[in-house]
Amino acid sequence: MYQNPLKKTIEYLKGAGPERAKALQSEFGIFRYEDLLQHFPFRYVDKSKFYKVSEISSTDAEIQLKGKIVELEEINQGKVKRLKGKFQDTSGTLELVWFKISTWQKDKLKSDLFKEIVIYGKPSVFNGTYSITHPEIELIEDAKSVSLGLFPVYPSTEKLTKRGITNRVMQKMMQNLFAENIAIAENLPENVLDHFKLIGRNEALKAIHFPKDLNELNAAVRRLKFEEFFFLNLANLSQKAVNKQKNKSNPFPIIGDYFNTFYNEYLPFELTNAQKRVIKEIRTDLRQPAQMNRLLQGDVGSGKTMVALLTMLIAIDNGFQAALIAPTEILAQQHFESITELLNDLDVSVKLLTGSVTKKKRQPILEDLESGELKIIVGTHALLEDNVVFKNLGLAVIDEQHRFGVAQRAKFWRKATLPPHVLVMTATPIPRTLSMTMYGDLDVSVIDELPKGRKPIKTVHKTDAYRLSVFKFIKDEIAKGRQIYIVYPLIEESDKLELKDLMDGYESISRAFPLPEYAISIVHGRQKPADKEFEMNRFKNNETQILVATTVIEVGVNVPNASVMIIENSERFGLSQLHQLRGRVGRGAEQSFCILMTGKKLNDVSRRRIQTMCETNDGFKVAEVDLELRGPGDMMGTQQSGVLNFKIADLAKDKEILYAARKCVEKILEYDPTLSLPINIPTKNFFLENHKDKVGWSQIS
Ligand code: ADP
Ligand code: MG
Repeated sequence: MYQNPLKKTIEYLKGAGPERAKALQSEFGIFRYEDLLQHFPFRYVDKSKFYKVSEISSTDAEIQLKGKIVELEEINQGKVKRLKGKFQDTSGTLELVWFKISTWQKDKLKSDLFKEIVIYGKPSVFNGTYSITHPEIELIEDAKSVSLGLFPVYPSTEKLTKRGITNRVMQKMMQNLFAENIAIAENLPENVLDHFKLIGRNEALKAIHFPKDLNELNAAVRRLKFEEFFFLNLANLSQKAVNKQKNKSNPFPIIGDYFNTFYNEYLPFELTNAQKRVIKEIRTDLRQPAQMNRLLQGDVGSGKTMVALLTMLIAIDNGFQAALIAPTEILAQQHFESITELLNDLDVSVKLLTGSVTKKKRQPILEDLESGELKIIVGTHALLEDNVVFKNLGLAVIDEQHRFGVAQRAKFWRKATLPPHVLVMTATPIPRTLSMTMYGDLDVSVIDELPKGRKPIKTVHKTDAYRLSVFKFIKDEIAKGRQIYIVYPLIEESDKLELKDLMDGYESISRAFPLPEYAISIVHGRQKPADKEFEMNRFKNNETQILVATTVIEVGVNVPNASVMIIENSERFGLSQLHQLRGRVGRGAEQSFCILMTGKKLNDVSRRRIQTMCETNDGFKVAEVDLELRGPGDMMGTQQSGVLNFKIADLAKDKEILYAARKCVEKILEYDPTLSLPINIPTKNFFLENHKDKVGWSQIS
């Protein structure tokens, strides 16, 4: 019987064998030929052209030059011995350096002096001149037989090297693979290839390993990236379609008295256009008998709470209960307060349920929930406990997505006969590319506009040398009646050093801002909750002008009168954290400031972060840079990065390809939702074979 060689296990490949196969399996999950085929080079050695010395730039990787060595000099500086050579071509000279060189090699170099050679290596710049350390050297007569081209360099590990799988061996195995009669079938529809001018899969997979030139390589890379995004989106979007079919929920067709009365009579401000748009998106979802699964992204202060409230009112108008769940007690408390205040003149019952609500107070709340008397419940994880029973939960709003896993969300579902609609709110903007990938099976709404009249926060960077002028600035702001945050890096449970940082800072600030003129609060993660609350309240009530804190204030503090955020050692914070902290100010009518303090020396990444903060207030722009600097896995936390293990595509760089692939899949699913047309059959088969774990495809009917 014919068996596609791609399905053969790797040990049967010439050059592999059982031992190496084992290493390839454990290191890279390469089991079959087809897996090896997908083990892509991470870079190429460019032997496609000869560079001139005058063309070298500091960013070059390995390059190849033609010329001769015109000088050799041995240098002995104590223990350090090296051999230095001067390489010359028609455009200039370049230094060559060897450390620890054998006599044999030295003699060979000497005998090649003044002969035409090809050298190969990575140039580095030192004192304004370029040099190559340990270049590969070949006499031009020998080099002539070598074909010019790009040579693949494969990701490797120590274990692989130990098993003798050097890059060269890997190349050889890859060649052997192609030498067998493998049949690489196309997996994208032909009309897609045509439309996006993509090369075929067979051609692309050959070219990614052995490109003839850059053009061919680029075409292969583009094709394979597209393919990777295509199938990811196919998995996500078909999952979404399955969910819509499978996850029935109660439709909310009515916009009734609660919503209308509130909207027409008690809305304290006009909604921003973004808020209006999002409400519309939500209303469209809610009319359907399918469960809403919507992610609401919006920067700090963009007014997500109002959107949540209006959505809850729609639920109530349709005879259902609504729950709002927040990650911390402080946040839950705050939501509860602002919602209670907004609904003050409306006859809607709202209650708070957190871990610290006493048993005695808890009992009537639970009873009212079960009887349906209670319409809106705000709380923490405490809401997920089994003894919390709803009469008819119709909507769950979840604030701060990142801290809740899917499993926890599912718990909510079980609290109703039909799963409630779900609105997930996050103040951590993530780039569209990332949300498409991470939450590809959710719908996403974005509030990309702040309420009118907000003055953009001014952000500046100051080194410690400017501390005095920063203190002076603080005094001036306090004299105007403002309040100030000063934040130190997070205190870990065990981190005594950082606590010391905070305490030292607190002391020096107490000296610079002495009683009785100034009063200072201090808040950190190791305080007792009661102490923390006491200190926070003093600041909230404007009894203290300065709040010295760790990142515990990152979420959930709202003091509109505070207009200055000072972040100490800001180089130690990540971008999204800096942005979150900055969001604590700029909540009132006054001009607000964020001052990023750092030491004098900054590495490139810290510098870029600080620069970005100073340049923009836009959380989505900040997030784009964050994605670029950290990569998607780190940005989302490692537990979720599995989805983000791309073989070749790069979320930060390949936006255009991602959007194109997404659109393409959307279109296909629109006219052929089950991929049953002949032109789509190969794609369907490939998908079922390789991605079937990702979607209940068979359930699409
Ligand atoms: P976040 O999106 O961070 O949760 P909030 O919902 O807490 O933002 O809103 C921040 C502040 O902006 C609140 O004081 C809220 O009352 C106010 N706000 C919300 N929407 C508007 C609007 N359209 N116009 C004016 N102020 C608004
Ligand atoms: Mg909020």
